[in-house]
Amino acid sequence: MSALRFGSPRHSIRNVYVHAPFCARRCCYCDFAVEVNRRPDGAGWLGAIRTELETLEASGEVRLASTLDTLYVGGGTPSILDPGRIVALAEVIGRMRTRGDDFEWTVEANPESFTEPVAGCWARGGVNRVSFGVQSFSREALRWMGRLHSAADAEEAVARATAGGLANLSVDLIFGLPATVARNWKDDLERALRLDVPHISLYGLAVEKGTPLARAVQQGTTAPAGEARYRDEYLFAAETLARAGYEHYEVSNFARPGFPSRHNLACWRGAPYLGLGNGAHSYANGRRWWNERDWPAYRDGVRASGTARADSEVLTGEQSRLEAVWLALRTGEGLRHARLGDGAAGRVLSWEAGGLARLEDGAIRLTPEGWLVLDDLAVELEQCLP
Ligand code: SF4
Repeated sequence: MSALRFGSPRHSIRNVYVHAPFCARRCCYCDFAVEVNRRPDGAGWLGAIRTELETLEASGEVRLASTLDTLYVGGGTPSILDPGRIVALAEVIGRMRTRGDDFEWTVEANPESFTEPVAGCWARGGVNRVSFGVQSFSREALRWMGRLHSAADAEEAVARATAGGLANLSVDLIFGLPATVARNWKDDLERALRLDVPHISLYGLAVEKGTPLARAVQQGTTAPAGEARYRDEYLFAAETLARAGYEHYEVSNFARPGFPSRHNLACWRGAPYLGLGNGAHSYANGRRWWNERDWPAYRDGVRASGTARADSEVLTGEQSRLEAVWLALRTGEGLRHARLGDGAAGRVLSWEAGGLARLEDGAIRLTPEGWLVLDDLAVELEQCLP
């Protein structure tokens, strides 16, 4: 185990992420910490998560609050695990910690494995938010991505969740697919809206190193979407969803009033969080640490020493400041700044004139146009703040 101590945290941690790495197949664009396995060892996974948390708490490295605000189980595909393993996480984390009135427990699911028993077991076990990886309703696009579900599976999964009492639902869609993939973005958005879910997330397709997509691009058999297509689809979606009553509360996320992801909001607001499982990241008191990315390395590390940390870093003052600016600008709440100084004020006014930002209620808020160049704007602003 690392000699570094991350604990004696000034604040106890109220938000926990658990990674469930297993997928039945790897999608062509995916570079997440995924283990392709149709029959994953759920008992081994849950045991490793339990051991990691027990080790961290026993050593005093992290201190979880007596009541958590959020638990987010992401993947991978958590819905391919025996649902009993997912609900047993409440025992692992501490049943009393998951009993708060506003406790948000999100689990990610893929439509093809979100069966009725999964829905029922999760709902009875305390899960109260489900995020579905839908991505598209186009048969050709789904096939191209390597997804295992159909449009009908996605619609049935949402209906199943609702019938099972899970009403706080989110749907992920991907935009910016290559022009050669027959996909009607407008149609996908309309079908997502017809699902009547309170939360929709949009992800722009990125060509990540080492993926089948990157190899296809390198071999010249696929050409990524150009900048103009990416931009047009993002702006079209932002406008369509806003018109349908969704608040664009973060660069990639849209929610009806009262339904933003509280877990993600906490992370973007700089709250400390603990990540358990392979590839999971944690943050507290200006320090970040992360686990071994591959499932076998994580599992074996936890077996051997209780944790499987890959590395850590302490943020410098400059890094912390840039990160704070970047995190604030990515949200609809924007960056509050009491005293901008002449340099920063001039910069923000020029953004406003260019349609990239608005200065309102004492905050700098990016527009969808501004969010398309978020990274550049965050660096520009950080450099001229007093
Ligand atoms: S289902 Fe999700 S996590 Fe699994 S391979 Fe596809 S994109 Fe990656």
